[in-house]
Amino acid sequence: MKISQKLYVRVALSIALVAVVVSLASSTLSYYSGLNEKKETNYLLVKQLAQTLEKTAAISAYLADRELSQEIVNGLLSNDLVKGVSLIGEANMVIAQGKINNQAERISINLMHPFIADSQVGTLNLYPDDKYIQQQAQKASKKEIILMSLHSIVIAFFVSLVVHRRLTQPIQNLTDSFAAIDPSVPETMRMLTLKQGNRDEIGKLVTGINSLMHELHLTISNERELREKTQELESKFRLIFEQASAGICLLDEQNLITTFNPAFARYFTAAGMSNMATLNFPQLLNNVEKLQELLNELRSEDTLDQITLDIECTVGQTTKWMHCLFAKLAEQRNSQRDDQGCLIEVILHDVTERAEREFQTRFEADHDPLTHLLNRRAGEKKLHKALFDSMKSKHHLVLMMIDLDKFKPVNDTFGHEAGDKVLIEIARRIKNRFCLSTDICIRWGGDEFVVARQIAHFDQTLSAQQAEGMLQDILVPIHISEYERCEIGASIGIVIGPSDGKVLHELMVNADNTMYQVKEKGRGQVAFYDKKTFSAT
Ligand code: GH3
Ligand code: MG
Repeated sequence: MKISQKLYVRVALSIALVAVVVSLASSTLSYYSGLNEKKETNYLLVKQLAQTLEKTAAISAYLADRELSQEIVNGLLSNDLVKGVSLIGEANMVIAQGKINNQAERISINLMHPFIADSQVGTLNLYPDDKYIQQQAQKASKKEIILMSLHSIVIAFFVSLVVHRRLTQPIQNLTDSFAAIDPSVPETMRMLTLKQGNRDEIGKLVTGINSLMHELHLTISNERELREKTQELESKFRLIFEQASAGICLLDEQNLITTFNPAFARYFTAAGMSNMATLNFPQLLNNVEKLQELLNELRSEDTLDQITLDIECTVGQTTKWMHCLFAKLAEQRNSQRDDQGCLIEVILHDVTERAEREFQTRFEADHDPLTHLLNRRAGEKKLHKALFDSMKSKHHLVLMMIDLDKFKPVNDTFGHEAGDKVLIEIARRIKNRFCLSTDICIRWGGDEFVVARQIAHFDQTLSAQQAEGMLQDILVPIHISEYERCEIGASIGIVIGPSDGKVLHELMVNADNTMYQVKEKGRGQVAFYDKKTFSAT
């Protein structure tokens, strides 16, 4: 049999069970104790009955009147409680008797002489009907049991009713209210209510639960609001990160790229660069060592938070310029990581076009548009610096002033355009001979060129050989057109800084004078500045 799981049903059943058991036990007890009581009462009644007839029986025994005696016996036997009666006269003579059961207990009443005190004339024996008495007792006990059971059931019913109303019903209501609550939906977290007021233990429990639920509701609502805001922000930031035109990436402590956005991937997408996530960032760019040094400096310098610079990189076959911002990740974000390594955030833009424009502009500002050698203004600046550096490092600056001989006639004979071609070719030859990164080649103006080279030890023979070589280069005939070519010479004046001039102006004047001296002497020669010659004139 399946018993209901409901608390009030179980409580009622338990109370009813206990009541039935208790009433059964107490009824059994009262049955046995009632049985003896009944017997005693009935025996007493029988005795009293006998006593009522004691006088008459005594007279009947004294007279030995059988008829009267039999009537007395019959009268007594008519009582349900009496089963047998015997009336014994003097000398134990049975005067009358009826239904005697010798096994049964008997009640004997001594019959006294009607006239003589203390003289016995006979005995009246009564045998109570034990079976009848027992039946009566059982009947009474059964009634009592039924009554008790009825009482118990009624009490159990009312107790269950009270328990149900005061305890299980409120608990059931609470359980139902709880079942309707879904913590993931704060709107369902309504306050619990109790019908019978809030004063008992359940009331206090409900008050406690309500205040707890109120707090929980607030916390969950706040958390949900916060989560929604965070998600909104995250999606905004993700959108910015993914849609940004700037390339963004994060570098770990080994400069490996840990995260990057689509723009970053687009910038560096080329054959062999598919697995960007395992790449060492500096290796994407041309000057690997310098960049590595820079990143180390950024990590180690506490006062340095970010570095901005333009970096050249080669992607596939093309060279690009990237404007990069390297920033240390905020300490707060760094400290959230277990390894404590310093992360660096890189934001970069492709500035190739701008950089190329800038190079072009700078090149145009510093170079002669025809020959692409340094122009006079930029050349002068470089010469100033070279002279200063030479003096500082106790080196020498060999400076040659080159002027083409009889160039005007080239223009006149072949045209200005042909003259330009000659100037371009001469410039190329000069650049070709003075090709060290520290060499300075300038178109000083018209058909005049200046070259300068820093040397640790001045060797006049070597410098003369270089100038002669230069002259020979210039003398090589130049093809002006398919059928025409021209041959041009040059006059070269050489000065050595700082011995021939501690300031550029002085050095240039001396170089110019030396070159003009060559012109005067018939052109096509190389001459070193001679202090004595010029100081004499
Ligand atoms: P000298 O031997 O004395 O130097 O005689 P020169 O004919 O070379 O004359 P000079 O050096 O005094 O004059 C330089 C000439 O170069 C003057 C000018 O016609 C010519 N010239 C200057 N600039 C340019 C140029 O950009 N293009 C061309 N084609 N000719 C130029
Ligand atoms: Mg000239």
